[in-house]
Amino acid sequence: MAKWDKILSLPVQNPPALEFSSKDLVWSNVEGCGDKIDRISRIPFGRVDDFVRGESANEDCPTRFHVEARRINRSELNRKHKVDATLEYILYWCSFGPDDHRKGGFVRPSRTTYVPKKNSAGRPNTKRGCRCHFIVKCLFAEPSVALIIYNHNEHIDTKGLYCHGPQDENAAGTRAMYAPYISEDLRLRVLSLLYVGVSVETIMERHKESVERQGGPCNGDAFLNQRYVRKQERSIRVGRFSLELDSDDARSVNKWVESHQSWVFFYEDFSDSEPFTLGIQTEWQLQQMIRFGNRRLLASDSRFGTKKLKYPVHSLVVFNSDNKAIPVAWIITPKFASGDAYRWMRALYNRVCTKDPSWKIAGFVVDDPSTDILSIKEVFQCSILICFWRVRHAWHKNLRSRCSDVDYCAEISKKLGESVSEICKGHGNADILQAGLEDFIDAADFVDYFKAVWYPRLGLWVNALKSHPVASHETSSAMESYHNLLRLRLVNEKDNSVYERVDWLVHKLGTKVHSYFWLDEYSGKGDFARYRKDEWCSGVTVWRKSVKIPDADITMEDSIARVVDQEGRSSIHIVQNPGSEFALCDCDWANAGNLCEHVIKTIKVYRDRKHVAHLLACCSINRL
Ligand SMILES: [Zn+2]
Ligand SMILES: [Zn+2]
Repeated sequence: MAKWDKILSLPVQNPPALEFSSKDLVWSNVEGCGDKIDRISRIPFGRVDDFVRGESANEDCPTRFHVEARRINRSELNRKHKVDATLEYILYWCSFGPDDHRKGGFVRPSRTTYVPKKNSAGRPNTKRGCRCHFIVKCLFAEPSVALIIYNHNEHIDTKGLYCHGPQDENAAGTRAMYAPYISEDLRLRVLSLLYVGVSVETIMERHKESVERQGGPCNGDAFLNQRYVRKQERSIRVGRFSLELDSDDARSVNKWVESHQSWVFFYEDFSDSEPFTLGIQTEWQLQQMIRFGNRRLLASDSRFGTKKLKYPVHSLVVFNSDNKAIPVAWIITPKFASGDAYRWMRALYNRVCTKDPSWKIAGFVVDDPSTDILSIKEVFQCSILICFWRVRHAWHKNLRSRCSDVDYCAEISKKLGESVSEICKGHGNADILQAGLEDFIDAADFVDYFKAVWYPRLGLWVNALKSHPVASHETSSAMESYHNLLRLRLVNEKDNSVYERVDWLVHKLGTKVHSYFWLDEYSGKGDFARYRKDEWCSGVTVWRKSVKIPDADITMEDSIARVVDQEGRSSIHIVQNPGSEFALCDCDWANAGNLCEHVIKTIKVYRDRKHVAHLLACCSINRL
């Protein structure tokens, strides 16, 4: 009993890194069976995978650990009587063992059917009798804690000699020097490139070039072979990564959920009381959320595909070091269920905090005034910002399409902008927006649209604008670009009938769409640039483009600004009503309703000059 008292009193260690190894833990010696002394450590059960990954990435001896044996005890009997009753037992073994396929090596009788393969794709070319292994135990008494028992922590065989890695002389120059499998990063890269349509041959060619550039193999990834890539390509086309639509959508989705357990952070099918909700987050997305979300912003793109798709996609995004939006979770649920956000938010938050207990966001950017703000505040404990891009975008786009006179458009837009700015300052309410439009009788089509679509919603928006700070132009334009990219990458099917299916939607998000966003962040994407469709690439953000425009390329006149096109240089863009996001530019990006770099640049120039003007009391510039 004393032994278990000691074990259960050991602290649960939770290193604050995405993955960690035995070096990051404090080990305690506890009496084991017979005379043996067990080296023991306790970690949260949810972090066992992080430990296994960290332990595999051992610098002195890179490897991979596989599950050699696993037992789950569901019996209720043990639970009451024994303090050490085991709920789950997992034996992890170094993948260079336990069998030994080297000449004269020992192979367990149950495994003697093994026939050595000449060139096994992606697997260790041989088992080398490595004894390194550890046990993970989860007790009934504490189901959320994993006990790690580690006795054989050196990569040696039964003779006590190093049997793989740099310390094994016989491994020199062979794959046994390195980890037996390619890295997770390379695996994802290969899959992503295949999903976006890069050929097996091109992937191999670029890979060989990069190994040569490094001056030969320096890790296990150098041994990527064509057979492995070909096999992945086949499983995308016809195998386990391909989409097999069941005639019944719900059954199909269930199947997808079952085979993608590690990506699903929340799932609830329709029931009497709850709507269908599916929350998806891949391992990579989780890593991005931890990396770029901590002490920074998390933003919500809540209404993607409300008209086109069976259920809309709600994306949560973080901003990378270039302030470009990266999707870190997708939630699929019918529109009417947006009030039921608490539970999936809690599940997502808990998932992140299991990996990094100190993780905390600085602010949550919402794009819909009817968002369940109380839930966000309760779960994320942060301030709320409101993002206006969706409204501005809709107004702008409809103005351009419903009113042909550009000068008149500029006047209306200016009026709308002034009214919104008054509301944000806390003066006035929806009435000033409505009153402002009364004068524009010549734009009846737009005014009718505004009355029909926006009058019912103005109250909600006005309240939101008054009670929360408004997100920056940089955030707005990043959200707008993300939404556009998602549209290009997701809703581009020839057969429109698939939009009525959720199984198609989850499959495409998890494969092609995920691949594009993964490749955006991949530093070597330049090698594959010409195989990707230009318009699908996410280049520099509009904000960054605006920073690159030199002040000299802008001329301000009374009510317009002229901005030199940075690519063509011969063409000039006219920005009407410059100095606010309600400006109108004549470039293609702006004509589609978006906030373009020319408008953002004029806002900055306007603000700077106004500041100077204030100091110099220069009225003519002040009037701009
Ligand atoms: Zn080993
Ligand atoms: Zn423009």
